[in-house]
Amino acid sequence: MRDHWKLWIEVGKAIAADPKVQALCPVCAAATLDVWDTPWEKEPERWERHMRCPACSAYNSLRMEAPAPATPSTQRPESSLKRH
Ligand SMILES: [Zn+2]
Repeated sequence: MRDHWKLWIEVGKAIAADPKVQALCPVCAAATLDVWDTPWEKEPERWERHMRCPACSAYNSLRMEAPAPATPSTQRPESSLKRH
């Protein structure tokens, strides 16, 4: 399991670098992982990245964190958060 964990980390990095990457299952290496995200916290922005192998059902999740704001493109309009 511990060796697999390192491989999951590598997979997580690869997906973080390119969300469209076809990450091979680190356990069975027979299929590419299904990857999906779920929100975890808004401030600071964090989310959970789930990875599951459709072939052997290996599953892992990583807690992801938004990098320090480097570009202004991450700004969201405040008004869109308000509700009537
Ligand atoms: Zn697998």
